[in-house]
Amino acid sequence: MSEWRLTVGMEIHVELETKTKMFCGCANDPFHSDANTNVCPVCYGLPGALPLINKEAVAMVIRFGRAIKADIAPKTFWARKNYFYPDLPKGYQISQSTLPLVDGGQITIDGETYHLNHAHLEEDAGKLSHSADKTHSLVDYNRAGVPLLEIVTEPDFHTAEAAKKFCQELQRIFRTLKISSADMEKGQMRCEANISVSKTDVLGTKVEVKNIGSFRMVEKAILYEYDRQIEALEGGEKLRQETRGWDDVKGKTVVMRTKETSADYRYFPEPDLPMVATSLDAVETTHILPDEQRAKLAELGLHKEVIGAVVDKNGFALVMELAGKDKDMAIEAGKLFLAIPKFAELDQENQEALLNLRKQNGWPKDTVAEIVEKAVTEGKSIEKIAPEFAQNEDLSGVVKDVINKNQKQVEEYKAGKEVVFQYLVGQVMAATKGRANIQQVRDELKKALGNTNS
Ligand code: ZN
Ligand code: MN
Repeated sequence: MSEWRLTVGMEIHVELETKTKMFCGCANDPFHSDANTNVCPVCYGLPGALPLINKEAVAMVIRFGRAIKADIAPKTFWARKNYFYPDLPKGYQISQSTLPLVDGGQITIDGETYHLNHAHLEEDAGKLSHSADKTHSLVDYNRAGVPLLEIVTEPDFHTAEAAKKFCQELQRIFRTLKISSADMEKGQMRCEANISVSKTDVLGTKVEVKNIGSFRMVEKAILYEYDRQIEALEGGEKLRQETRGWDDVKGKTVVMRTKETSADYRYFPEPDLPMVATSLDAVETTHILPDEQRAKLAELGLHKEVIGAVVDKNGFALVMELAGKDKDMAIEAGKLFLAIPKFAELDQENQEALLNLRKQNGWPKDTVAEIVEKAVTEGKSIEKIAPEFAQNEDLSGVVKDVINKNQKQVEEYKAGKEVVFQYLVGQVMAATKGRANIQQVRDELKKALGNTNS
């Protein structure tokens, strides 16, 4: 008996971080404003309000399409997707149906290539929050009209892990292209999976799973559906094409509704928006996608984990720039992205300054971590912070030296002869030619003598 084969296609929605919304001038700022403050007649869908196309959003989608080697539609075409929901004030969503901006395209991850069917631009809905006692719900339209890119893949995934990795890679791509932070926790990126099983080349009945709130859940939901569908089929049941939701608490999918077909949405051309010719000229396409970044970093001899950290933390530009002048420093930089998470929060200038000063001062990793922490929390430059660490490092070295050279006095001090402490302070002061701060010398010396005790 042949094995059940899993087939998955992904649908991913991502909010584009444009300055304004998709069809009006309201701020695209759903996370930092009081409810229903970034709204206007277009957002509310009031009669007579006319939408305008956001050029920045179209450019972002073209940038994405070109980066993944897709075809770009020669003009924009919009359609109304009709359905009722309280978070959708117009009663329809402006989307793209027959002519998506991005046609095809492919993404390669470590030698595996996955294909897109298309990607299109649309608008997000508002956000509902339900009261804990279930007596009422509130709606915030700040999110209504935020540009949304929907990506639909071919059914190219045959393991849950591959689907998860693809979603993670997409997030890296969005960040590399600077079109979205694609934070799943904030709902900026939302994944849905179309899952089926079959023993033949003919695909089985597909079930769509929504409400997947994290990459981990992508994998769990697919694995659960795989088992559920096989069990149903082997028990003689017929699967229905339906939409299910992932319940992470129960660890299972539950039926939401039987699948609507596109006819249910009564798509028709949006009469208020013109067709506008797209242009590829103004769209920057020099970005290096994560997969190519990984290949280039591997050529430098970086370890796989280090490469992952560099790509995830947007450190590729720094490492490659350093590689041109000082390969060892480039490798050190890569390791810092892995070892010290906050290193990525410094800008490139400060990262370079820190690496140079580290080389001069011979700071160990712990000291570097301390400096990074201070620079990030206090918002100061590395140049400003470094001097105090430079001195401390010098001082602790001198103190160690003095202790090593005066073992007899150290023994006496430890036996209770307190007065010897002053002698040791004097030795350190002499070694620094009187430049050290005497209180720091005392502290450093006490610390060092305490350490040798243990
Ligand atoms: Zn508006
Ligand atoms: Mn959609």
